[in-house]
Amino acid sequence: MKAIPLLSSGLDSVAALSIAAESLEIDMALTFDYGQRSAEREIEYAQKVCEHFGIEQQVIKLDWLAGITSSSLVNRDAEVPELSFEDISGGAPAEITEASAKAVWVPNRNGVMLNIAASFAESRDCEYLIVGFNGEEAGTFPDNSLDYVRAVDECLSYSTQNGVKVLAPLIELDKPGIVRKALETNAPLEYSWSCYHGGKKPCGSCESCRRRARAFREIGVKDPLLEKLGH
Ligand SMILES: [Zn+2]
Repeated sequence: MKAIPLLSSGLDSVAALSIAAESLEIDMALTFDYGQRSAEREIEYAQKVCEHFGIEQQVIKLDWLAGITSSSLVNRDAEVPELSFEDISGGAPAEITEASAKAVWVPNRNGVMLNIAASFAESRDCEYLIVGFNGEEAGTFPDNSLDYVRAVDECLSYSTQNGVKVLAPLIELDKPGIVRKALETNAPLEYSWSCYHGGKKPCGSCESCRRRARAFREIGVKDPLLEKLGH
């Protein structure tokens, strides 16, 4: 069975790839550039992850998506929301986490990326796409949920001749669970970039950095990326 991961180099996509690689042949990986602030860093880190797994990386540029989105992930004039640990732990009113999710939303991003990846999978005789969708983010982002995975599978049963399916090995896990699984499978987390920004070091205060930091703190392990960067 062959599979193609959607690899942003974020904690989730690297963990999902690492878990899937234990039982599937990984054909190649796709990294998407839709003009996000962290694109350059994600491409660089995903390339290192691909070297680790001995697979080819293809970068797909989606300039048109960059052009039509006002998300603060892409639009440098808008501010990326900063959340505290209390905010992401349920301490914030729902409006704050919802506003944060809205500010980083890119129109139909996962829908676009999955359909492009499905074309690659069909043309290369791959049965699966691997994604890092997870339980923690499904609460905020409906395109991370099991319902969505099932719906995409249903669509792809019509639009691909080989019935490409989405494999989401983290779908029931929260972030600490994901870090545990990643460490168990020796995922190269020192080359995993989660920050919404593309600086030399992760900012530490965006929602993605906060969730990652909380996960490592909760299981009592140092983040290999921060160790590598000398934190
Ligand atoms: Zn950050």
